[in-house]
Amino acid sequence: MLIGKKALLLDMNGTFMFGEDRFDDCQDFSAHYGRLGGTLPKEEIHQIIRAVYGYLSLRYPDEQYRHDFPSVRFAISDVVDKVLAHDEIERIIETFTHHELGFIPREYVTVLHTLRKYFQLAAVIDIWSPKEAWVRIFDETGILPLFSALSFSSDHGMVKPSAKPFKFVLTQLGIPKAEALVVGDSVRRDLGGAKNAGIDCILVGGAEHPDACRTFSNLIEFTSAIEAG
Ligand SMILES: [Mg+2]
Repeated sequence: MLIGKKALLLDMNGTFMFGEDRFDDCQDFSAHYGRLGGTLPKEEIHQIIRAVYGYLSLRYPDEQYRHDFPSVRFAISDVVDKVLAHDEIERIIETFTHHELGFIPREYVTVLHTLRKYFQLAAVIDIWSPKEAWVRIFDETGILPLFSALSFSSDHGMVKPSAKPFKFVLTQLGIPKAEALVVGDSVRRDLGGAKNAGIDCILVGGAEHPDACRTFSNLIEFTSAIEAG
């Protein structure tokens, strides 16, 4: 599985970040928005966030948008049919970000440090909001310096299973695909993207597929296998 592998190309959500994408009907989007000083009525902010989420959810699996995925800012401009003040748009984006953002459990911070002893680390990350909130969490938890290359889809609009974000980090790492291993929890996005890029893949988090080199219940179990040699 690991012979000749020098770098791990990690997925983020469901791989080392959890509790993301809180957009279900139980969410009160007005709470965070209110803390930011937003002035739109509760019902209106709820309707806007739900509409933006629906807009992006519909397009996310659509191959037509794989290399040109719309930003949250663009989605807002397309679903809201009135002129919003600049500050209001920023508060809506920040509210969307707040609900998209997950957390990194302490034990996953530890395993990332462990994996860095054995491999170069990169992450191929699909997010819809601007990356700054994620970079801040990476920095606060101390994992940011562990990564030699990062791809955030909201930087460039390329989403998995496109091969392009995987090739993008390989170029940053300066290694051939044979020396890389993708680690992720999604058969469609991670295994699919890895196959499209010609990179081996292992699945974590419960998903299984015959094309995966191996499967582990989570990144912790994978790290234990690495440490055990
Ligand atoms: Mg994932």
